[in-house]
Amino acid sequence: MVVGSAFMYKMRKWSVRHARSLKRVYTALESVLMFCEPLLRRLGYARLDKPFARIESLTKGLLLDSQNCGQCIVGFTGLSCPMNCPKKLRNGPCGGVRADGNCEVEPDMPCVWVLAWEGATRLDDEHIPLQTVQPPVDHQLIGRSAWLREVRIKVESSGHAI
Ligand code: SF4
Repeated sequence: MVVGSAFMYKMRKWSVRHARSLKRVYTALESVLMFCEPLLRRLGYARLDKPFARIESLTKGLLLDSQNCGQCIVGFTGLSCPMNCPKKLRNGPCGGVRADGNCEVEPDMPCVWVLAWEGATRLDDEHIPLQTVQPPVDHQLIGRSAWLREVRIKVESSGHAI
């Protein structure tokens, strides 16, 4: 299915406008996945990666125009996918944003970092996570499930071996 850019730009704007409720859904989903982690581990992360990545691609693709980088940071960027930036900046904006808030490279496209700022200001976090410096993209993770990766990171950081 080919979805037009104008429609996806509208969806991106809708998502940042609803950043707070979408982040709540995100947090709830994470809790469910953490609860199911023993089952996920038993089934095997490697085996589950493709189906999870597919579900993510469909849902986040529609809502966020996600580019499936496999290392999702929209929780930090006000629900605006930074991989839609033509320069693929994970820390932005670039300084070339147009006066109307659109991108200097794609004049019809709202700058993803202007949207990120709008989304981040709607979140009720104590500090603005948008200001957290993000590492560069790990190309080996592109196309893989970011949700499963997040669960694994959380479990590992809690001291449990996977
Ligand atoms: S204006 Fe925004 S979207 Fe365009 S290249 Fe710069 S940071 Fe990326």
